[in-house]
Amino acid sequence: MCGIVGYFGKEPVEDILIKKLKLLEYRGYDSAGIAVKNSTSLKVTKAVGEISNLKAKVKPLNSAYLGIGHTRWATHGKPITTNAHPHLSTDKCWAVVHNGIIENYEILREDLIDKGHHFLSHTDTEVIAKLLEQTFANLPGDDSCDKYLTALVNTCNALDGSFALGVINKKADCVLFAKNNSPLYVAVNNGEFMMASDPTCFIGFSQSYFALCDGDFGMMTKSCLTFCDKNLNKIEKTPVELNLVYSGDTNDFNHFMLKEIYDSRRVIDNIIELYSKKETLSGFTKETFKRITNIKIIGCGSSYNAAVIGAKMMQERLGIDCSAYVASEFRYSPPTFGKNTMAIFVSQSGETADVLAALNLAKARGALTVSVVNVEHSALSKSTDLTMPLKAGMEIAVASTKAYVGAVVVLYVLALKFDSLIRKTGFDLQQLSTLKDLLQIEKEPEYQPIARLLSKADKLMMLGRGYDYYTALEACIKIVGTSYTSATPYFAGELKHGPLALVSKGTYVIAFATDNDILTKTLANAEETAARGAKLILCTPIELPKEQASRFVHIIKVNKIDGPLQTVLNIIPWQIIAYYMSLYKGNNPDRPRNLAKSVTVE
Ligand code: GLU
Repeated sequence: MCGIVGYFGKEPVEDILIKKLKLLEYRGYDSAGIAVKNSTSLKVTKAVGEISNLKAKVKPLNSAYLGIGHTRWATHGKPITTNAHPHLSTDKCWAVVHNGIIENYEILREDLIDKGHHFLSHTDTEVIAKLLEQTFANLPGDDSCDKYLTALVNTCNALDGSFALGVINKKADCVLFAKNNSPLYVAVNNGEFMMASDPTCFIGFSQSYFALCDGDFGMMTKSCLTFCDKNLNKIEKTPVELNLVYSGDTNDFNHFMLKEIYDSRRVIDNIIELYSKKETLSGFTKETFKRITNIKIIGCGSSYNAAVIGAKMMQERLGIDCSAYVASEFRYSPPTFGKNTMAIFVSQSGETADVLAALNLAKARGALTVSVVNVEHSALSKSTDLTMPLKAGMEIAVASTKAYVGAVVVLYVLALKFDSLIRKTGFDLQQLSTLKDLLQIEKEPEYQPIARLLSKADKLMMLGRGYDYYTALEACIKIVGTSYTSATPYFAGELKHGPLALVSKGTYVIAFATDNDILTKTLANAEETAARGAKLILCTPIELPKEQASRFVHIIKVNKIDGPLQTVLNIIPWQIIAYYMSLYKGNNPDRPRNLAKSVTVE
């Protein structure tokens, strides 16, 4: 999930690399490092923890003009300095930064050890540096940038797994790169070249960039940028306009997470604006949808939690078979599906490895593919038959808030569109304006005491039926991911089949009961836990009789809206509670331990 960057140019290389790594820090933040080069030397600096630690350690190398950098989310080997990238070859000439996983690294490592190489780290990445040295030594001809590039191509041919690579050599005047199943982009600016895991790094550097495809290689030299394929045939690439707005400031908020919760209203506005335009959904025609008899919605984490809501709402509205799947399960235990399936992929980053693999499977089976995605330049966005952007803007906090809201709302728009095409119903986004007005983000101070209370709890149980259960799923993932408090969602009706045994004095049980028809049943389930010592919190839009209300420690009174959009109103208080629970526990809500924003490895 790491972020990589590379630069060839004139300005102080260390400053540029560190500035860009800071922008990539959302991708991993357990350690970081850079390697820079001048005409004679190569210098590596690494530090554990955030980029600021690296920045404090860096001492510039005189006249350095090229370099590579890395911010790590460890997959192989602990987050310690020796495991931080860049990794070096045995002769210390090659330096490598890597995003991805080398699946055959153990075999390669043994072979390289037999050949006399000495390994310092426990990473999979280090084999690449050693292999580059080995491969280069066996190549004929004079040393030239082309020969270094050939060494990289041949090395990559021996690798199984995923990689975006940035490579330099002490004796070569070039920065080499390669991509396979991890994102990588390159940009040019007046004699300077840059590569990065995210085009956001190019804001202020260039107006356009090149998106690398799997199997692409290339190099940046003093005078030019070259791309080639695995047979070393030169390839031409068309630049893409850099259409990104930087929103990397917390503004007046202390953290991105809170700022992004407040952004939700603007996200709904953006969605109304975009999808009200006729041309936006022009690819969605009756002809396209005619063959569809079933819908599969696929995602991971919060995107999956939005997908389950989408599947239920589409099934209810369209009357066809709709189900949601966790991407990793979809790819390894796929359901029966094919040409009559619409496969919808939900993702904030659009580069989640399991989602992309599930997409490939859906394409191979001939399904109609649709992406519901926030990052519009992402691999997912570009690879589906139809794309529906979330328009949430940059989401920086690891815990998704506004993008989750955006995903639920865009799935609602898709259900409406489908319905309007098939049954000729109207396509009216009026309910979204109502939704926006009913969000209760400003009730933030009312939720703080609840967060304080829950931050002292050992474990939380969340109950609900139907859509309310789906809100419980998302509320739990938010609380677990930011406050590290154990929180488990249960179908309210399943309580007596096992989970009730967990209830003891001091357990907090949160009941979601927003549907009048099933209110009494869910309240009865909550009462059963109270009878066994649980303390109850209720989330409902319904006014309870005083006597009944008195059994709850807190009642979160949410506004009421008809249909599935109620889930959006229900989740906002829990996003805020998760944020404050994290703060009260002394955590950084934007950067929870062990997690990263974009999950580019399986
Ligand atoms: N596998 C590499 C490591 O553990 C890179 C990890 C990643 O890209 O997430 O250092």
